[in-house]
Amino acid sequence: MLLRSLAFLTLFLASASLAQEAQEAREPEEDCQVATDAPEGLRRLVAAYPDVLCGATATELLWKDGTRMPYETRDRTTPMDEEDRLNSADLRDQMEQPYPAGKDAPPPQWGEDPGRYRCEAFFTKLYGDTQQTVAKNTIKTKWLDQKNIRFSALHTASDHLEAIKAELKRLPPKLRKIAEPTSGTFVWRKVKGKKTAKGNSTQRLSAHSYAVAIDIAVPHSDFWGWVKPDKEGRYPYKNRIPFEIVEIFEKHCFIWGGRWAHFDTMHFEYRPELLPQCL
Ligand SMILES: [Zn+2]
Repeated sequence: MLLRSLAFLTLFLASASLAQEAQEAREPEEDCQVATDAPEGLRRLVAAYPDVLCGATATELLWKDGTRMPYETRDRTTPMDEEDRLNSADLRDQMEQPYPAGKDAPPPQWGEDPGRYRCEAFFTKLYGDTQQTVAKNTIKTKWLDQKNIRFSALHTASDHLEAIKAELKRLPPKLRKIAEPTSGTFVWRKVKGKKTAKGNSTQRLSAHSYAVAIDIAVPHSDFWGWVKPDKEGRYPYKNRIPFEIVEIFEKHCFIWGGRWAHFDTMHFEYRPELLPQCL
């Protein structure tokens, strides 16, 4: 009798733990939703990448695979140098500055760099954390100048690039000519900064590493790293890219480096979370 009870108890405990395991595995799917107190930034991320994200709490982003990613990873009460903040950006940094799309948006004020803050843990999970994994998910296509380029096929990024190409082709010849040359899309590299004795590379991965950025129109482009800073260390804003080109990219969920105080006007990048019409 005692033996039989023990056997029953063991069986009971084993099935209870199995049930618990099953519940843990199911949890991400079942409980995954956007909580009423979830921050706006997390809501926009869930709306922008619905294939992999399923919810948010007041403090975390919830992935369909069960991963929980913190909205904030550092204390906000102590001020941080801009370069350090760019190098260690969390999701809050990434989502905090509003991106001002449209013809009437004024040039960026010093300190405004919307979209330049990228949470590396988020992007490497979205697109891959090595050159090989990112490359596996790219497609090969041709830009307007017939140059072969690679772009990520994940999260509908390359579909949007194709829509942009089709619209750029319909621009009047003068404008089309400006958008025609590309100087590249997918390159596994760090962000370029000011030239120093140690070179001109920063510590953080460029959006080009994730195969979601394209540089075009270099002869008509301006980059903060090419100009002299003023007495306060700020870079006088410059842009020669016609708005008709920018407008097409923004319509299809790409942000433009010309919206940054650290301007990079050749640079366009697929970032649906920053454009309201893409959510
Ligand atoms: Zn670029």
